[in-house]
Amino acid sequence: MNEFDFIRNYLMRQPRDAGVVLGIGDDAAVLRPRAGFDLHVSKDMLLAGRHFFADVPPDALAHKVLAVNVSDMAAMGAAPRWVLLGAALPELNREWLGAFCDSLFAQAARFGVTLVGGDTTRGELCFSVTVIGEAPSGKALRRDAAQVGDDIWVSGCVGAAAAALQHCLGRLALPDDVFAACEQALLRPEPRVALGQALLGVANAAQDISDGLVQDLGHILRASGVGAELYADNVPVRQDLCALLSDEWRYRCALAGGDDYELLFTAPENRRDAVLAAAAQSGVPVQRVGRIGGQGLRIFDRHGKSVQLQAGGFDHFA
Ligand code: ADP
Ligand code: MG
Repeated sequence: MNEFDFIRNYLMRQPRDAGVVLGIGDDAAVLRPRAGFDLHVSKDMLLAGRHFFADVPPDALAHKVLAVNVSDMAAMGAAPRWVLLGAALPELNREWLGAFCDSLFAQAARFGVTLVGGDTTRGELCFSVTVIGEAPSGKALRRDAAQVGDDIWVSGCVGAAAAALQHCLGRLALPDDVFAACEQALLRPEPRVALGQALLGVANAAQDISDGLVQDLGHILRASGVGAELYADNVPVRQDLCALLSDEWRYRCALAGGDDYELLFTAPENRRDAVLAAAAQSGVPVQRVGRIGGQGLRIFDRHGKSVQLQAGGFDHFA
């Protein structure tokens, strides 16, 4: 199998969606966005040994490659529409690529995205996906729109992926059943696409949690020029994991972990009912974890005592 067999036989299998004038096979894809919508464009890169273990099952890898990119659209309140796949592959292995592509297109169908192009090269296993989405013009959920007095909310649960990673690295010992559940969060994150769109016109600022809640909240605070209080013990952690962890480990995983792909967003206090309605409509629980205001970020436990974090979150160059 050569590069072109791979493109023809493995990648050109999706029906063309209404916005795709020209898909895979020409020098460029031609896309036609709907009138009244802005395009949202984002890219995330995943490198073997850096973002995933090289021996991760190909179906899980495909899921994650797509999910982390789609999550950036969710965080903007955009509907993901199209993706471009940059792939460096050490070899063209039929079995591996078959499993990878089956999973990739199953997830693509679930998220409503069409693969419209990309590039393929031989090299150390690495994926770089560009995702393009649409949201009604001027309505995106941005990082710079948090207002003093806003509640801070988080969707789902956080910390499970970080706990699984710490277990794999031999720093934290989880029982088999808890590890299995946390490993799913690490391998197959669920981007909050429906919730992001339901929060349009409800939330002020939003972002997805990829590098740890505290670090990512810091991006919203800096962009918006505001401070905040965070209630560390209100941050939702899976019950079975929570029961096992000391406070220190829980804070480390839930506040400074990463790879959660939950939404972190702010909304005015008088929209609490609207936030809960958006959550109910999209089938994702949400939890209030803090409040925008004051100087810098202050973190408190359930007794009102200040919490100091060892490390704020993930930084590739730290
Ligand atoms: P070019 O030489 O013009 O860059 P290529 O030969 O690299 O074109 O690719 C041929 C077609 O296949 C293009 O439409 C390109 O977008 C698509 N393609 C190549 N690799 C991928 C990939 N990994 N995923 C999706 N589409 C791809
Ligand atoms: Mg090319």
